[in-house]
Amino acid sequence: MTDPQTVPPPPAARRARVTVDDAGHGSVLTIDPAAIARNWQAITGVVGPATAVAATIKSDAYGCGIGPVVRALSAAGCSTFFVALPQEGLAARREAPSAVIYVLNGLLPGAAPLYAEARLRPVLGSLPEVEDWALFCRSRKVPLEAALHLDTGMNRLGLPEEDAARIAADSVLTRAFRISLVMSHLACGSSPVSPFNRTQLARFEALSARFPGLPRSLANSAGVYLGPDFHFDLVRPGIALYGGEIHEGDPLRLAPVLRLEAHILQLRTVAAGTPVGYGQAQVTTRPTRLAILSTGYGDGYHRRAGGSDDRPGATAWLAGHRVPLFGRISMDLMAVDVTDVPADLARRGARVELLGPNADITAVAAAAETIDYELLTGLGRRHRRVYGPLGEDL
Ligand SMILES: *Cc1c(COP(=O)(O)O)cnc(C)c1O
Repeated sequence: MTDPQTVPPPPAARRARVTVDDAGHGSVLTIDPAAIARNWQAITGVVGPATAVAATIKSDAYGCGIGPVVRALSAAGCSTFFVALPQEGLAARREAPSAVIYVLNGLLPGAAPLYAEARLRPVLGSLPEVEDWALFCRSRKVPLEAALHLDTGMNRLGLPEEDAARIAADSVLTRAFRISLVMSHLACGSSPVSPFNRTQLARFEALSARFPGLPRSLANSAGVYLGPDFHFDLVRPGIALYGGEIHEGDPLRLAPVLRLEAHILQLRTVAAGTPVGYGQAQVTTRPTRLAILSTGYGDGYHRRAGGSDDRPGATAWLAGHRVPLFGRISMDLMAVDVTDVPADLARRGARVELLGPNADITAVAAAAETIDYELLTGLGRRHRRVYGPLGEDL
């Protein structure tokens, strides 16, 4: 028998890197607010000094955390934010006491006092909302700010042409509050070849002319990159700030801002012809080394991104090596094929990048038949969250 003292210690490279902080979690999600701020800065360069750049931070800043994101963007000079809901507006207000905050989802009945208290500006998109806000402002005897959302073809929120015309002609109504922004939203912006972008642009020019002299905004991230005609006074990018796809199928992208890594729980080597995981959805075609990771769809990693015999899974990365997902994703677990990775890298406790600078969020989303927006806003609550630089590849 070997004397325990003569057993050599494992080489440093083989040792697990799980820290005390990591140990309670299956995965680590690192988010870099400074990278988000740099992306925002890059957009100010794209639009030039005549156009202000707001930041869209709805749905917890696309899953990145509204607090840290607003702090970083405010420090970089961003002073206008778009949220979807008043409660998100309140969270942003806590971080940015003097910022302008617009609430895209408009105004529910009875909500006006909440907006007034936190100095949130509703984006009014229907005649009842406009009348509601005007009535509230008259009752308070103060013309509070709001944006007007004009529908130019999205047919979601926004005032149809005849209602916009009615409002423009009703000076009693428009004197009751202050229109601080006139805006619309592109339905096909992510598809630059769509002729509908120019159609909406022309409609926006025509409709907004009924409200002369007021600041105007049309562009989301995609709109920013459709060219200067789309910029107007204010752009309101979201996904570009978070490193997502700007135009469909176009490699143009700002920097990645997060890295999601899962720990390897165990390794196993199986023969060719071995089914792996639930439903035996994928069977090995060669002797295969599998790493089982401590993350699954319960962490927001889409189940649809798993592998099957018919359809390859998404690609994860281990120390610079591609490691494809293998078989179905479970609630708390998934398998990756590490056959081609040197054995001292694929070890228990090592981290595999599921999303990040290598595992592009848009590519993973595509493997799951969805979009990066959904992947980001669905990031789970079980990851250990770290705010700071993404660091080097492990
Ligand atoms: C979400 C949203 C944005 C930001 O869109 P991105 O595609 O993420 O840049 C801008 N404007 C409105 C009205 C939105 O709903």
